[in-house]
Amino acid sequence: MSKIVMKTPLVEMDGDEMTRIIWKDIKDILILPYVDLKSEYYDLGLEYRNETNDQVTVDAANATKKYGVAVKCATITPNAARMTEYNLKEMWKSPNGTIRAILDGTVFRTPIIVKGIPPYVRNWNKPITIARHAYGDIYKATELKATAGSKAELVVTSPDGTETRALIQDFKTDGIVQGVHNVDKSIQSFARSCFNFALDAGMDLWFSSKDTISKTYDHRFKDIFAEIYETEYKERFEKAGIEYFYTLIDDAVARVIRSDGGFIWACKNYDGDVMSDMVSTAYGSLAMMTSVLVSPDGYYEYEAAHGTVQRHYYNHLKGLPTSTNSVATIFAWTGALKKRGELDGLDELVAFAEKLEKATIDTIESGVMTKDLYLISTLENKTQVNTLEFLQAIASRL
Ligand code: NAP
Ligand code: MG
Repeated sequence: MSKIVMKTPLVEMDGDEMTRIIWKDIKDILILPYVDLKSEYYDLGLEYRNETNDQVTVDAANATKKYGVAVKCATITPNAARMTEYNLKEMWKSPNGTIRAILDGTVFRTPIIVKGIPPYVRNWNKPITIARHAYGDIYKATELKATAGSKAELVVTSPDGTETRALIQDFKTDGIVQGVHNVDKSIQSFARSCFNFALDAGMDLWFSSKDTISKTYDHRFKDIFAEIYETEYKERFEKAGIEYFYTLIDDAVARVIRSDGGFIWACKNYDGDVMSDMVSTAYGSLAMMTSVLVSPDGYYEYEAAHGTVQRHYYNHLKGLPTSTNSVATIFAWTGALKKRGELDGLDELVAFAEKLEKATIDTIESGVMTKDLYLISTLENKTQVNTLEFLQAIASRL
């Protein structure tokens, strides 16, 4: 059999621990036998990040800007324990944070739905994608305590020195005060990433905030979305038969629960943090989520939403069998291959990625799954397999 030929390389970002093990297995067992894989390889494993003073992460992000599509393995974000474990020169920053800062994108997370793992909300029979704005608000807040008798004010000083002041509170008793901000440029990127993703996916886009209470701050988000929609996207949405609509966050929550899924829900930073955990839990498992960073300039970075599964890795090192679910990492690869195929007009590559996704889902629906799913699956005939057996079962279907 001749292998599928690629035109442009994928940016391949390798990672750490158990996900680094399955990364190689996925390539060897499911991709390399069928695709003449062209990739530009960056080793984001912690050892090499340390060796290069984290330059490799920056290089990988810049390569993504050059080629447009990347696939990333889960990586360790060092903490104090990792400093000793890996004898690090510095507590390097989160690679995802570094890449996000360079590509300036929005992260979209979508559950992978399979028969036998019913969502906790029984009418959710299609996926709900959460798009979380990743800049500002309470994540870049300044906070102070105020004692009884203090006055808190908001002061904005213009470049010419003019001050605009607003009273926050005359504190009669002890209290607290918080200052948050956002910037138009980031909100505009967020909006464009969401509109682009909705067009790509052919799904409606919802955006929610609390503009009735936050008449300047949240209202700015609402206005920016509306303005960009009207001037840049309206026609394309109408042509694609999809809808953009804005609603209040509390109304959105009620509608989401009543819905049958199948849309994208754009959320402000805090709302997205909270709602993505709620939605992913309700659909079953982090190992059954796809995650992609979409930049406003049209660069895509596909990854798994879970971490490096450290506990399994230590078992693997001891020679014990592991039960790591590789679905999210497989879908990171298929997402990237599909996007590369679409951009380069390679129908065969797109078809291959779709077949690999189908083989993965069919394997689970036929009752073959790793322990995490075995514990929650309602299928009557189910078999629990280990990490490698699961990949082999997919390969035999593929
Ligand atoms: P984790 O990798 O998400 O795993 C936590 C637990 O969740 C596992 O012990 C396992 O439970 C279960 N789990 C997660 N993914 C699974 C999978 N694919 N298959 C089966 N079970 C799965 O979190 P962690 O082990 O606490 O974190 C390890 C490292 O990951 C940290 O250094 C952190 O910095 C990093 N991290 C990276 C990313 C990223 O790069 N995107 C994201 C989050 C965390 P059981 O042990 O009960 O089986
Ligand atoms: Mg969170």
